[in-house]
Amino acid sequence: MSNTELAPAETPLDCVDAPGPVARVIRDRAVPLGGPRGLVVSRTIPDRGLPTVGAWCFLDQGGPELHRSRLLPHPHIGLQTVSWLIEGSMVHRDTVGSEATIVPGQLNLMTSGRGIAHSEFTPGESPAPLHLLQLWIALPDAVRHQEPHFEQHSELPVVAGPGWTATVLIGELDGAGSPAAAYSPIVGAEIRLEPYGTAVLPLRRDFEHGVTVPVGSATVAGVALGRGPLLYLGTDRAALEVTAGPEGAIVLLIGGAPLGEDLVMWWNFVGRDHAEIAQARADWEAHDARFGPPIAVHRGARIPAPPLPEVRLLPRRRMPELPGGGRG
Ligand code: MN
Repeated sequence: MSNTELAPAETPLDCVDAPGPVARVIRDRAVPLGGPRGLVVSRTIPDRGLPTVGAWCFLDQGGPELHRSRLLPHPHIGLQTVSWLIEGSMVHRDTVGSEATIVPGQLNLMTSGRGIAHSEFTPGESPAPLHLLQLWIALPDAVRHQEPHFEQHSELPVVAGPGWTATVLIGELDGAGSPAAAYSPIVGAEIRLEPYGTAVLPLRRDFEHGVTVPVGSATVAGVALGRGPLLYLGTDRAALEVTAGPEGAIVLLIGGAPLGEDLVMWWNFVGRDHAEIAQARADWEAHDARFGPPIAVHRGARIPAPPLPEVRLLPRRRMPELPGGGRG
């Protein structure tokens, strides 16, 4: 494989300020969630050196596998959770009174603001096929203390061409805007391609972008991608060419204006400093009203916060210079 768009190694990349087409493969790592019968997810961001893509600050892929989720109530602050299923179904319940079953094609978006808690259960008692994408979007400082709220969207805008269809989850792509609440300039889209189908998607040059391929394989900006890694594409691209392999592909595009804020991320919290995270942890452990009333159906069961690390939590910083090598 060769890729003429890979940035030469000597090109310095300040991800926040320096534009220029970059293509860097962020390898995924396996992270076990939710105890012994939990789901092992594949995580790409936050990555050492790349904590965010736009305001996107977290990307997990789980499945496809037979899974029975019993993820009990747990808190969030400072972020939006984005749930998007490729296969299966999940029941979301939260402390602002929402109960919503999500199926493929629907978007669940929970804006935690200053605090919310939620649970995620697969329906029924038996393991069932599940393939999911779970992402977080960091809320910009000016809006991160807002009231928590939850939304589910079943009607999302679609952009299509010969051999491909793109669903806009959040933000805007090629003039098609999602109704989902967004608090920073952002895009999230799922692109489905027929075998060998090619899509050329217009991008905003001021956005940085990332692409992952949950199903099948695809060549993205000249880089061959299979399941797992995230291709980070930097800013300053006017278009993105995606070509599916022989089995077709489902591709996730994320992007946005570089956030330009240092985030302190720990457990399920996104904040700006150690003290704030420690306070959120203490509030959860104290059953503080900040996270809303208990979700009745769980009868008090919840996920306790892990102990804070001994060291002071620091912002995740971008590497001042990312290597140009992009082979996954
Ligand atoms: Mn959660």
